[in-house]
Amino acid sequence: MTDAPDIPVRVRPEVAALPPYKQGRQAGAEAFKLSSNENPFDPLPGVLERLRAATALNRYPDASATRLRERLAERFGVGVDAVHIGAGSVSILAQLVQATCGPGDELVYAWRSFEAYPWLAVVAGATAVHVPLGGGARHDLDAMAEAITERTRAVIVCSPNNPTGPIVTQAEFDAFVERVPSDVLVILDEAYAEFVTAPDAVNGLREPGGPRRPNVVVLRTFSKAYGLAGLRVGYAVGHPRVLDAARSTAIPLSVTAHAEEAALASLEAEAELLERVREIAGRRDRLAAALRDAGWSIPDAQGNFVWLPSGDETLTFASAFEEAGLIVRPFAGDGIRISVGEEGSVDKVLRIATSVVMDLPEGHPGRRLA
Ligand code: PMP
Repeated sequence: MTDAPDIPVRVRPEVAALPPYKQGRQAGAEAFKLSSNENPFDPLPGVLERLRAATALNRYPDASATRLRERLAERFGVGVDAVHIGAGSVSILAQLVQATCGPGDELVYAWRSFEAYPWLAVVAGATAVHVPLGGGARHDLDAMAEAITERTRAVIVCSPNNPTGPIVTQAEFDAFVERVPSDVLVILDEAYAEFVTAPDAVNGLREPGGPRRPNVVVLRTFSKAYGLAGLRVGYAVGHPRVLDAARSTAIPLSVTAHAEEAALASLEAEAELLERVREIAGRRDRLAAALRDAGWSIPDAQGNFVWLPSGDETLTFASAFEEAGLIVRPFAGDGIRISVGEEGSVDKVLRIATSVVMDLPEGHPGRRLA
């Protein structure tokens, strides 16, 4: 919100009431930025070279990013029309919500989850329906199925869940989809899919041919595993009719030629990039194990981040991290999300996490039973 004096321009009241999007805090030169689930590695040199070679800044990009769609379509064994590219997967989320949910309609999702979800519902004029996470900070898919009403137009399933970390299993997802009416869109948000090591996790693109049901759309991104968060490029795989609806609400030409080129180059260098993803997942597992050894009770971490259920101590603990040069993401009254960053950040995170855990009262859900 700004402090500027009010003016008579009429803004939709629900929009005026929205808090502005809160980004993970930027870090000073000395600090580690562990607040936005970014990839700590720079893009590969080959990717940077391709970007440098891509000129033509005076020209508009190819509106539908055809080359990238063709490449992804081939990879996932679907038609080109079953792939849609957006300026980050959050753009596609917004398009899908705009396309399905209007005033009076309901958007169902788990909570706590990705902060953009409630905001997407409000901007579309729709009603956000939060379904509390169940045990282990996991999606409660039974409760989500029960929350679907005549007014529900779309449901979002986030696996692994941002910010808590656990996955939804393939069996849970399949059983859930059986219960969702065929005219309700299911958006499977897999922004962190590449970091998952749990063998039973849902994978919306496991089989060639894309999602089996026409009302399921899978979202992936180049921001996290592929390290291109700054260029903004993500994709959806789903039924062409659903993606056409998303395309109809899209702001034209928002995916730049550079983003498309970098995504293509990253797919070519995938083996090398996925080696780094394995390294980050290994670092995550070491961090999670050490946090548990230090006395924290934390949920399963399957993305590139860990979740400390710090409850009422969240803001105090976040300041302790910050004073030590670690910018983390606090959710007041709930918990702290810490991205898995540079190797040098791990010991520092552990040092602070170990020093604060004993400030949690005995019996606190964030504290492991001794
Ligand atoms: N989905 C989830 C669950 C996320 O955490 C994020 C990024 N924080 C996104 C989607 C959007 O990522 P992007 O727009 O960079 O692809």
